[in-house]
Amino acid sequence: MSDAYDVIVIGAGPAGYPAAIRAAQNKLKVACIDEWKNSDGTYAFGGTCLNAGCIPSKALLESSELYQRAKDEFAVHGIRIGDLKLDLAAMQKRRASIVKTMTGGITALFRANGVAGFQGHGRLLPGNKVQVTGAEGAETILQAKHVVLASGSAPVRIKDVPHDGNRIVDSWNALEFDAVPARLGVIGAGVIGLELGSVWRRLGSEVTVLEAMDQFLPMADQALAKEAQRHFKKQGLDIKLGAKVLRAAVAGAAVDVTYTDAQGEHTLQVDKLVVAVGRRPFTQGLVADGTGVRIDERGFIQVDEHCRTGVPNVWAVGDVVRGPMLAHKGKEEGVMVADLIAGHFAEVNYKVIPSVIYTAPEIAWVGQTEEQVKASGRPYKVGTFPFSASGRARAMEQAQGFAKIVSARDDDEVLGIHVIGPMAGELIAEAVLAMEYSASTEDIQRTIHAHPTLSEALHEAALAVDKKAIDGINR
Ligand code: FAD
Ligand code: NAD
Repeated sequence: MSDAYDVIVIGAGPAGYPAAIRAAQNKLKVACIDEWKNSDGTYAFGGTCLNAGCIPSKALLESSELYQRAKDEFAVHGIRIGDLKLDLAAMQKRRASIVKTMTGGITALFRANGVAGFQGHGRLLPGNKVQVTGAEGAETILQAKHVVLASGSAPVRIKDVPHDGNRIVDSWNALEFDAVPARLGVIGAGVIGLELGSVWRRLGSEVTVLEAMDQFLPMADQALAKEAQRHFKKQGLDIKLGAKVLRAAVAGAAVDVTYTDAQGEHTLQVDKLVVAVGRRPFTQGLVADGTGVRIDERGFIQVDEHCRTGVPNVWAVGDVVRGPMLAHKGKEEGVMVADLIAGHFAEVNYKVIPSVIYTAPEIAWVGQTEEQVKASGRPYKVGTFPFSASGRARAMEQAQGFAKIVSARDDDEVLGIHVIGPMAGELIAEAVLAMEYSASTEDIQRTIHAHPTLSEALHEAALAVDKKAIDGINR
């Protein structure tokens, strides 16, 4: 039967498409279904990450950083440019073309690996059947031995801040602005708020970020959070902590935002308002009654540590299940499930998932923060190394931030590595590898790092853990 598959994946984001590709590599017959449509009405594989998340945001972060550096930093390098002009249309064209290339790449990968790609809505029916509703409403029923649900997430909306896609927008709209808003409001100083706030600040917006919590970046090591807050303030991002947004309303060409803080109620007027208060699992129309798939009170599909839903041969991966909403976490889960289906050993090490915030300076970490280690009661030691002492960072005119290592005092195990500084998101890969291999601080101390590189900061931080730093001052 041609419409019977070993594996059907619903969702072709960074959790679903790797599951489909690995399953095909495992010699299984695979289909992958996705309903994503871009603003021009065309279907595209790649999910949130490629179409409206990781990739377009990084494209704009790169372009806007170059613009800002050309404006403020090139003269220090001895490069004089005359009349610097922003061509936002060209910048946005580049962003859109990167997205097109990358999403087209998934179509090509499906073809190369023999994955049958379907564009339309997928719905799990009882008995591991999947109903596919295509563009013109045409319905097909496919049968599968295994079904992987990878339907992702959607932005959280605030009831009294009504989204209109023009003045009151979500992160996707904010990636596609065709003019730089003079005054930009952002609700939420989380990862999206900081990344998108940075993009538009660098391009000229006056940016106010309203954050309900009193603490800045509570999930990060607080030494990094403090350092980051200092830099963002210097860059002109006005981050108001303890500011809970109550409501917002479009008033002519502007938006009036009402928030409360310790001083009482305030109104802020902006030209565009981005709501970035988190994302929720997306399961609309995904499972028919009677399948037995359980969805918890927060909307997540319930799974065990191997992403089994409890219904035989039905799995769920990525943002739609518990754990951090990160592309690389979803990818590892997708690959694990495809290998388990093929009968191979597979697992995800949830303890060493790196986090990266792609601001300038970048912020990246893996493992436990100093605050978490302290709370655990395990005796620990800390080493830090500032990028101001790094020759390479100086040469790059980016000598901000530091690397920090937290290790166990008893057996020297590395418990957490935290970096704020240039290319922190790249540097953290070494830290992840070290922790994946349960490295000790001494292992990093004994590893030769090329000179002059930014990675020497990790080496020196490891040396500093035992007060043996050569290029930094041991405290
Ligand atoms: P998604 O990427 O959301 O993909 C799910 C897909 O399933 C979608 O295409 C959807 O249309 C489709 N789908 C849903 N239901 C059905 C159905 N019933 N039938 C057919 N198709 C269906 N993460 C990082 O790790 N690094 C970053 O730098 C980063 N930057 C981000 C920036 C922004 C602005 C945003 C919004 C997110 C960012 N993220 C980042 C988070 C990242 O995008 C998500 O963690 C990731 O996309 C989750 O992957 P997923 O495959 O689970 O879901
Ligand atoms: P987030 O959870 O990181 O931050 C949301 C923030 O909004 C929180 O700090 C919260 O306190 C605040 N908030 C909530 N309600 C509020 C209110 N009424 N008023 C003021 N503040 C309020 O969520 P996000 O930034 O929307 O990102 C969503 C997801 O996307 C995250 O899970 C993140 O992992 C992922 N993402 C990752 C990256 C990356 O890896 N670089 C980039 C972007 C997004």
